[in-house]
Amino acid sequence: MTQWTLAGRTAKMNSSAIREILKLTDRPGIISMAGGLPSAKTFPISAFEAACHTVLQRDGSAALQYSTTEGLPALRQAVADFLPWDVDPEQVLIVSGSQQALDLIGKIFLDKDSRLLVERPTYLGALQAFTPMEPVAVGVDSDDEGMLVEDFAAKVGTGADKARFAYVLPNFQNPTGRTMSEQRRQALVDKARELNIPLIEDNPYGDLRFEGESPLPLAARNPEGVLYMGSFSKVLAPGLRLGFLIAPKSVYGKLVQAKQAADLHTPSFNQRVVAEVMKDGFLHQHIPTIRTLYKDQRDAMLAALDKEMAGLEVRWTRPVGGMFLWVQLPEGMDAQKLLPLAVERGMAFVPGAPFFPGNPQHNCLRLSYVTVPPAQIAQGIAALAAAIQAYPQE
Ligand code: PMP
Repeated sequence: MTQWTLAGRTAKMNSSAIREILKLTDRPGIISMAGGLPSAKTFPISAFEAACHTVLQRDGSAALQYSTTEGLPALRQAVADFLPWDVDPEQVLIVSGSQQALDLIGKIFLDKDSRLLVERPTYLGALQAFTPMEPVAVGVDSDDEGMLVEDFAAKVGTGADKARFAYVLPNFQNPTGRTMSEQRRQALVDKARELNIPLIEDNPYGDLRFEGESPLPLAARNPEGVLYMGSFSKVLAPGLRLGFLIAPKSVYGKLVQAKQAADLHTPSFNQRVVAEVMKDGFLHQHIPTIRTLYKDQRDAMLAALDKEMAGLEVRWTRPVGGMFLWVQLPEGMDAQKLLPLAVERGMAFVPGAPFFPGNPQHNCLRLSYVTVPPAQIAQGIAALAAAIQAYPQE
């Protein structure tokens, strides 16, 4: 076999630990709370059918032609109109899934060995997106209200080692489900402004709030200091690969150049179809149906946890939106070792360790409540409790 020489950076690249786990767990008969997929029940198929037809009839070949890197003007405008602060459409970059925004951000901010700050734990896909740039991801301690501002300030670094940015998920974080409080948001924005550190705000789940009011996004508090990422994956359909990045003018041009090199532009047909679907306030009717479904599912999971985990030393988050909750197992228990016991009993989850940028906690795991129907949620959580009880004592 030919031994080709690959770039040194490939040594650090690896398959998502979650995808590897899903290969084992997404088997028939397993109640899988491991995946990160939205519920397919929420995809508005007839709205897409009508929009595809309209776009092809109305726009003809233009809908299938190359288009601009920044994105379809009508969609950039629709995104700006949808956001809860004053956004200039010229600052909107339509991207091929918000995952691409992470890649572009990595490319324009990170050199080899650059420091970046993330929550502990954080979205694994962001760590993966930044890895090819060979940065040093430093975990900032986080509690139920999000990133701890004192630890953020302590880990920013100085001189050449000063962090290039901090990546945060203020709403219904993946993986923990927790939400940053009003006070913490403002404190973080103020501190980041003082230290001149850009914040990357990733908000794919923000519209899926079940109760209470959303605190303002970080970007709304300091538009010049925050890059804001949103996505159509959780409110329409992930297969579209459509997301958006709102960037200050100072970096917008560099992001466009990075995107041009990566893929020229986001699929023009998909952009036109989504602009058509969004017309006349469709999302304002559609999103509440997703919220209702997910809220019922969350309630089912919380009720099952309350019932099945009674007497076990297990704690979990109570998310007010989104798709995930986070379970803290008894001290000393390793979720990776618990997984086969759970699979034997018919359920699967994602162990928490891969979500940490270093120094992982092992006694935690992520559960998704959106794809499994309520009756199976109860059964799956009972199987998890049985696995915890069967875990060998030291
Ligand atoms: N950020 C977070 C926190 C996510 O959970 C996901 C999807 N799982 C993404 C970004 C990427 O989403 P997409 O590329 O589908 O917009």
